[in-house]
Amino acid sequence: MLFERLKQQLHEREQAHCYRRRRIMSSPQSIRVCLDGREYLNFCSNDYLGLANHPELIKSFKQAANKYGVGSGSAHLINGHSKEHHALEEELAAFTGRQRALLFSTGYMANLGIVSTLLERGDNLFADRLNHASLIDAGILSRARLQRYAHNDMVALTEKLTQSGKGEKLIVSDGVFSMDGDLAAIEQMASLAVERDAMLMIDDAHGFGVLGKTGAGIVEQAGLDANSVPVLMGTLGKALGSFGAFVAGDEILIEALINRARSYVYTTALPPAVAAATRSSLRLLKKENWRREKLHGLIAYWKQGASQLALPLLPSDTAIQPLLLGASEKAVYLSQQLDEQGFLISAIRPPTVPKNQARLRITLSAEHEQTDIDHLLEALESLLHKEAIVE
Ligand SMILES: *Cc1c(COP(=O)(O)O)cnc(C)c1O
Repeated sequence: MLFERLKQQLHEREQAHCYRRRRIMSSPQSIRVCLDGREYLNFCSNDYLGLANHPELIKSFKQAANKYGVGSGSAHLINGHSKEHHALEEELAAFTGRQRALLFSTGYMANLGIVSTLLERGDNLFADRLNHASLIDAGILSRARLQRYAHNDMVALTEKLTQSGKGEKLIVSDGVFSMDGDLAAIEQMASLAVERDAMLMIDDAHGFGVLGKTGAGIVEQAGLDANSVPVLMGTLGKALGSFGAFVAGDEILIEALINRARSYVYTTALPPAVAAATRSSLRLLKKENWRREKLHGLIAYWKQGASQLALPLLPSDTAIQPLLLGASEKAVYLSQQLDEQGFLISAIRPPTVPKNQARLRITLSAEHEQTDIDHLLEALESLLHKEAIVE
């Protein structure tokens, strides 16, 4: 019986301390949230700039809902493509310095659509081992030969590119790795791509809005452009505090996706009000640099405090600041202890990360203050100290 198998699989997950359960939020996303009826200081959201509950976004959302209603009512290619979607696409193209941009309902769907439109059977996809799950699934869906290389290992990537047979070549990587917080070696990848006649695609879900002089992401930060990174994907549900995703690039790329990306064609368009709220967010991003600057100051403050306590930091300069613990049990235990003290920090376990690399994924937001970080450091210090004694 099929359900017997599910039951067995769930049981195994439970035994491995990897069972996942949802908890119920009854407040907006913010650094102070109410979860399962309790108040927490939040260190686990991707709302890096604190825009998810910003009054300007809410105002635009409401105004657009008054004007356009709630549901878009159909796919973009039927009559679901509203003025708000279109204006947002034009603004995203201008912001990223590209000819065109195309909105997708989620980042997951964008990745499925992009990779499976670009590649077909017989082509080669080169992917970092730590790429986001959606990029892995996208590779499988494309039917291309999937070649995963060791994390950020440009020697390994070069070898795989050299050994690859016929067919088109696409290199794809997270810009900021979602569970590690480190950056892709994007300059090297860009020159390798040119040398080896491959195309480069960057998924900048955690860099867009946060990195670069104007917040346009890792490509801007690296001083690269649309020629060296022809396919740029970004999400709108993280730093932008809204929902959805986009891809930006040349006319030809966007027209091909409109015509052929199945996760674009066969799905209902986002509510126009969501696009309107995102436009507001983009305006704030351009007008107010202080959120990005404050966030980077907080990251430096945290790193200094955490290294003084010799916490097991990973080499990250982004808002994603994981503490590597190893055993899932340990990550879950610490996350629970912190929970009891009112800190919300998620334990990330396999299969989201490799075996024996369970961690606490701490994320910072421009809404935090140094005192919030002080409190967290104090709690971590006494917990780890206590644990050392127990061991
Ligand atoms: C979150 C994330 C996605 C998926 O984006 P959604 O809009 O949440 O579906 C894709 N890629 C990376 C690297 C991500 O972190």
